[in-house]
Amino acid sequence: MKTLIEPFKIKMVEQIKQTTPKQRHQILKKAHYNLFSIRAEDILLDFLTDSGTGAMSDRQWGAIMVGDEAYAGSRSFFKFEEAVRTITGFKHIIPTHQGRAAERILFSLTVKKGLRVPNNTHFDTTRANIEYNGGEAVNLVIPEGKIPSLVHPFKGNMDVGRLAELLERHHARVPLGMITITNNSGGGQPVSMANIRETSRLYKKYGVPFFIDACRFAENAYFIKLREPGYQDKALVDIAREMFSYADGCTMSAKKDGLVNMGGFLALNDDNLAMNARNMLILTEGFPSYGGLAGRDLEALAVGLEEVLQEDYLRYRIRTAEYMGERLLAAGISIIRPTGGHAVYIDAKDFYPGIPAEQLPGQVLVCELYQRCGIRSVEIGTVMFGKKNPKTGQTVPAPMELVRLAFPRRVSTQSHFDYAVEAIIDTFRDRDRARGMKIVWEPPFLRHFTAHFAPLD
Ligand SMILES: *Cc1c(COP(=O)(O)O)cnc(C)c1O
Repeated sequence: MKTLIEPFKIKMVEQIKQTTPKQRHQILKKAHYNLFSIRAEDILLDFLTDSGTGAMSDRQWGAIMVGDEAYAGSRSFFKFEEAVRTITGFKHIIPTHQGRAAERILFSLTVKKGLRVPNNTHFDTTRANIEYNGGEAVNLVIPEGKIPSLVHPFKGNMDVGRLAELLERHHARVPLGMITITNNSGGGQPVSMANIRETSRLYKKYGVPFFIDACRFAENAYFIKLREPGYQDKALVDIAREMFSYADGCTMSAKKDGLVNMGGFLALNDDNLAMNARNMLILTEGFPSYGGLAGRDLEALAVGLEEVLQEDYLRYRIRTAEYMGERLLAAGISIIRPTGGHAVYIDAKDFYPGIPAEQLPGQVLVCELYQRCGIRSVEIGTVMFGKKNPKTGQTVPAPMELVRLAFPRRVSTQSHFDYAVEAIIDTFRDRDRARGMKIVWEPPFLRHFTAHFAPLD
């Protein structure tokens, strides 16, 4: 059979609200053209993020009912601990309420002023937690990873040449090294096993502990099976185990490949660091057998970690993004290629060649897709990363103007994606009629969340 079907059937449904373009025009205006300010119930298809937005299975909901809510030594904790250890092999498993809590604990114990932490590409919260502790977050993704149209099987790979150079010169100032799988901020691109192995070898050579940012470890494992010679016949859980075997620990946001709506963990082998991490955990997250989560959350996460490595799930998951990408490319729309694991990124600069970066082409596209078809996406361009020149007051554009459609796990059907493709292609056909936008108010930092916009006359 050529048709790939969703590898699940629907047992419970949630209604989505239909609105008219006229209603959406009013809603958008009231929200000052910022999609973060729109109520989720006024959105038809919400592709804002894949974080914490997935659907749990009947097995996960069943596990929720048997959660053990004991303060200390809960049965659910041991189930969770075993699930994480089966996949990662790490000695100490510390639950946290989400990924950034694991990052905060790890970096507050290891990073100080003047220290540097290399990674392929640091995620925003990872970078922020390193910088908050006075450190410097260094990105060392391969050059291919920065060219949107260039096709490469593992665009998330670490540039091991540059890593070796950095370690050779500064290893005394590197308290730990990382790699992010898949490379979220670089388009959800995978990292090869060979690259993880080589990165690990370099860190070991200089005595630098190696931590994996493992948020999308299952999607990364599937890409390795698909694209790396020698892995075609391996079980996904074995591929995952091999990836983690090269590291000394990991941070994880279970809101991604944990298939839960909230949760995370820090896992590591070093006894002393683990003891300090647990003490820090008690200070702000909770006792080490729950770490800010309920017993039922730990139950659902234990099941999620098992389900996320099912091959038919990952085949459908990765193919969904690929299918959408193929259809957009066939219509002449530029996207980041190849499509990654969790999202499709449209090149808004190419979509609207008549709208310069100063007039926020990504924001124009995000607003158009909502106004015309009720889809929520997110701008990753000058609104998010542009800077103001303090002297002239002029906007310094971001290197790329992207619009990301991120896909919640197990939530949408094939026809939802077909609808989204039709909506984007329709918007593309009408691109000559689109006008630029301007920012009319902005806060001092992280402006994309709350800024007000207006269409140019
Ligand atoms: C989401 C994410 C995080 C942070 O996790 P939260 O659960 O949102 O705190 C860290 N790293 C990467 C790569 C992520 O995608």
